[in-house]
Amino acid sequence: MLEIRSLQKSYGQLNVLNGVDLKVAPREVLVIIGPSGSGKSTLLRCINHLEEPTGGQIYLEGELINDTGRSRKDFEKHINHIRCQVGMVFQQFNLFPHMTVLENVMEAPLLVLKKDKTTVRDNALELLGKVGLSDKTSAYPSMLSGGQQQRVAIARALAMEPKVMLFDEVTSALDPELVGDVLRVMEDLARDGMTMLVVTHEMGFAEKVGDRVIFMADGVVVEDASPQAMFSNPQERRTRQFLKEVL
Ligand code: ATP
Ligand code: MG
Repeated sequence: MLEIRSLQKSYGQLNVLNGVDLKVAPREVLVIIGPSGSGKSTLLRCINHLEEPTGGQIYLEGELINDTGRSRKDFEKHINHIRCQVGMVFQQFNLFPHMTVLENVMEAPLLVLKKDKTTVRDNALELLGKVGLSDKTSAYPSMLSGGQQQRVAIARALAMEPKVMLFDEVTSALDPELVGDVLRVMEDLARDGMTMLVVTHEMGFAEKVGDRVIFMADGVVVEDASPQAMFSNPQERRTRQFLKEVL
């Protein structure tokens, strides 16, 4: 589904990704853990073209998606094409504050995919039902709790019918009592067969929902294992050290 080869990203002198190799199978839930600054967000942002990698390749269903040998106009079209296939949810919800919940979810399919309004509306209502927000469709983001806003953000990403979903610490900014609802939505999504890359500190979620866990440090994948193996029997010294601090 997704294949990453020798991915590199530098900001000037700072090498943030130092050759990441990674394969993610269809329907797989890959959990990414690692210390602050290890490059987890940068990796997701490269996959979604929010950052341009300095080297290496990213393939989505066999198609090279970071080909820079194109004219600028072609490339912008290409980026849009990729962003439609890769959904991303961030720690900060980034909803459009002047739009209702329903309008937030309808915006991109209408504008980018140019689908007809009835189809988009029906689909948005269904998605809002799935994330448990059928009663909030006319509310504005400022009227919602953080957990509710985050579930709108997930519904909004899903409205583009992505092939892969990227989650970057989506529960980190939430009050503890709101975390569970968001994780449950992600668990449902995993059960429905969505391919997911999830950066999280929620080790319970990683263990329960993850098919595989990778530990990143200094811009490389240090360890790649099943959740059970990663948490009960980590092989690398750096993994053990990290897990001792967070568990
Ligand atoms: P955290 O757990 O704190 O979110 P992370 O693993 O997601 O950390 P990244 O956000 O990927 O880490 O950042 C990796 C490194 O890249 C950090 O040292 C960061 O300061 C640096 N970095 C990220 N974005 C930029 C940028 N736009 N310009 C310069 N340096 C950057
Ligand atoms: Mg990060």
